[in-house]
Amino acid sequence: MARKAPNRPLRPATQLVRGGQMRSGFDETAEAMFLTSGFVYDSAAQAEATFAGSVQHYQYSRFGNPTVAMLEERLAALEGAEACRATATGMAAVHAAMLSHLKTGDRVVASRALFGSCHWIVSTLLPRYGIATEFVDGADLDQWAKALSQPTTMVLLETPSNPMLEIVDMKAVCDLAHKAGALVVVDNVFATPLLQKPMQYGADIVVYSATKHFDGQGRVLGGCVLGAKKWVEDTLQPFIRNTGPSISPFNAWVILKGLETLHLRVPAMCRNAAAVADMLAERSEIARVLYPFRDDHPQQKLAMAQMSAGGTLVTFDLKGGKDACFRFMDAMGLIDISNNLGDSKSLATHPATTTHMRVGAEERARLGITDGTVRLSVGLEDVADIIDDLSQALDAANAAPARAAE
Ligand SMILES: *Cc1c(COP(=O)(O)O)cnc(C)c1O
Repeated sequence: MARKAPNRPLRPATQLVRGGQMRSGFDETAEAMFLTSGFVYDSAAQAEATFAGSVQHYQYSRFGNPTVAMLEERLAALEGAEACRATATGMAAVHAAMLSHLKTGDRVVASRALFGSCHWIVSTLLPRYGIATEFVDGADLDQWAKALSQPTTMVLLETPSNPMLEIVDMKAVCDLAHKAGALVVVDNVFATPLLQKPMQYGADIVVYSATKHFDGQGRVLGGCVLGAKKWVEDTLQPFIRNTGPSISPFNAWVILKGLETLHLRVPAMCRNAAAVADMLAERSEIARVLYPFRDDHPQQKLAMAQMSAGGTLVTFDLKGGKDACFRFMDAMGLIDISNNLGDSKSLATHPATTTHMRVGAEERARLGITDGTVRLSVGLEDVADIIDDLSQALDAANAAPARAAE
């Protein structure tokens, strides 16, 4: 006879290890990987009843799979959301959350500082379908209030933002958005559900790229959308079922196993990031360091009110612009040059020439991204080795032009 699961609320670490698990008849320890596209029925009548909705039975992995369902349940439990749908990528999650809900004539307001592809959806894709869109500076509540003084369908924001780690006051923006009739979508990738719970501040929908901290080991792409059960079932699910942004059960399984250590990895990466930010701030080659929990972050108070730690990313400006950045990055021996983030390996990128190349110089200036800006995703290596690598790379970057000038 099966033992009874505890019916008391479980703490986050426990949810990450055990949330959503459904054991098959073989009583396996680990979550089973149901790598199957379809499912079979006992009889034609059972197939009919399943399609009619009177019997619960998996039909086809585009719209339901047991391994994917385990991931969805685990993520919903962690977030404290009523329901979750997993998707093939983070962008599939953002796209499905928005396009499942929006129609011609609707209006969207978004913070300007968004992940590049989210920016493209709002600036380029939505207007093609007759959806009005407006960007505001996320930190400026007056701009939010002005933009939300007319009826609005949806708000999209990211906090902390990529790559300048700008903080949006979620409670204030959600209040304004709800008065305008909008649903608020928060892209919570940078904070992770361990550091920040947007729904506690009024967010209606939370989206993640599971590619980042959830897998966190550079293996698979994935994403998810979390929200109220009714919205997920009536609005999101038909969109996913019929347009197919579905995650592979294999990738869902990898992410399930990644989640089991999320509560160990993310705090360790945050500790490393905080130490790295302090070390960088001491260096004369660096014009400014942005890290949400540092005293010199312009929104430290708000960051500390919304988040339980400063996050795993550090952004800084090197004096000497692009040339200095390239010399510095090329001199790194341990830290990789990569535009990914949230990985156990420390990764650095130069936003102006990679992730934010396509937004153009004018928009970069508006976002505060200079040619000297470097974004560092701090990993799980020993922090002393990360700091040694940064120190020697800064020394090397400094030495190079001096030699050239001789
Ligand atoms: C990576 C990322 C995305 C997109 O996720 P993919 O899994 O790469 O599609 C969206 N938003 C933010 C903030 C991200 O960092």
